Amino acid sequence: MHEYDTIIIGGGPAGLSAGIYAMRSRLKTVLIEKLMPGGQMMVVDHIENYPGFPQGISGLDLGMAMHQQALSLGLEVVATDCVGVDFSLETKVVKTSDGEFRAPTVILAVGATPRRLGIPGEDRLTGKGVSYCATCDGAFFKDKHIAVIGGGNTAIQDGVFLTRFASKVTIIHRRDRLRATKILQERAFRNPKVEIIWNTVAVEILGEQKVEGIVLENNRDNSRRTLPVDGVFVFIGNDPNTEFLMGHVTLDPQGYIVTDEDMRTNVPGVFAAGDCRRKFLRQMVTAAADGAIAAVMAEQYIEALGDRAL
Ligand code: NAP
Repeated sequence: MHEYDTIIIGGGPAGLSAGIYAMRSRLKTVLIEKLMPGGQMMVVDHIENYPGFPQGISGLDLGMAMHQQALSLGLEVVATDCVGVDFSLETKVVKTSDGEFRAPTVILAVGATPRRLGIPGEDRLTGKGVSYCATCDGAFFKDKHIAVIGGGNTAIQDGVFLTRFASKVTIIHRRDRLRATKILQERAFRNPKVEIIWNTVAVEILGEQKVEGIVLENNRDNSRRTLPVDGVFVFIGNDPNTEFLMGHVTLDPQGYIVTDEDMRTNVPGVFAAGDCRRKFLRQMVTAAADGAIAAVMAEQYIEALGDRAL
């Protein structure tokens, strides 16, 4: 059994920022992350809106820098899978594949996972032309025709990014206007390789060993047609990784953790930060800010208890 002041679950920008602040507060802290620390930013090709980088920075570089900063302050990072929690007592328990961790405070920074379309062909062809990561898979589509599903920031930013490789990128969006921020929209509209099909949803992905096409349905007149494509990139938002927290903290109907503005959940001593939290703007900068607030609030909670592990 491992005793700490604070357990952080999740190593994206929210968790790493919480780790940096917790270590500077001299809290005995462990960060649990099942994959490589950095989270979703590790697959972002180019980040243009994180303050301090006027030329932009790759997600990998920024993630590694945050990780390095946290490690240099002495943060303990454990690579393991969190399988359950028990928040019923003042000492909270986090259960992992490598044993139990205990602390009076827990910061939930568990992030979110790309949503799937749930249409025929998607499961069969994932990894065979269906992808959820432009940075990971874009280079496999040199001079190919790619369909991108979605109209948010990810779909538009990554759709434009994919034109570096593809001969053509067809963005398929279910409405007649994009959700993405204006600067990204402008970039897509002026890119000659980008075509947008409006008011249309994907209903089936075709192909056996690899993607050969996509069946589209116009949601105004219900007409269907097949678009021959070599790849389908799905960017239709994310779902919070909070299933294991159901019944332990209050979640909203979409599964996001409900907190106050100081990142407190309904359970005293349990805080949430980043994309897993119910909020309006899910960005790296807001995730990092959430993490900082959560760590400071955790410190205050521990001070009030008068009981530090260090
Ligand atoms: P998002 O903002 O939730 O957008 C999802 C898009 O997919 C929307 O256009 C939505 O359509 C569409 N969609 C949802 N479900 C669908 C379905 N079943 N079938 C077809 N289309 C569907 O998700 P995101 O673009 O992945 O962004 C996630 C978060 O990361 C956001 O907060 C975003 O701002 C942030 N982000 C920021 C940047 C940046 O600042 N440069 C870059 C990437 C991501 P509707 O528009 O009709 O709802």
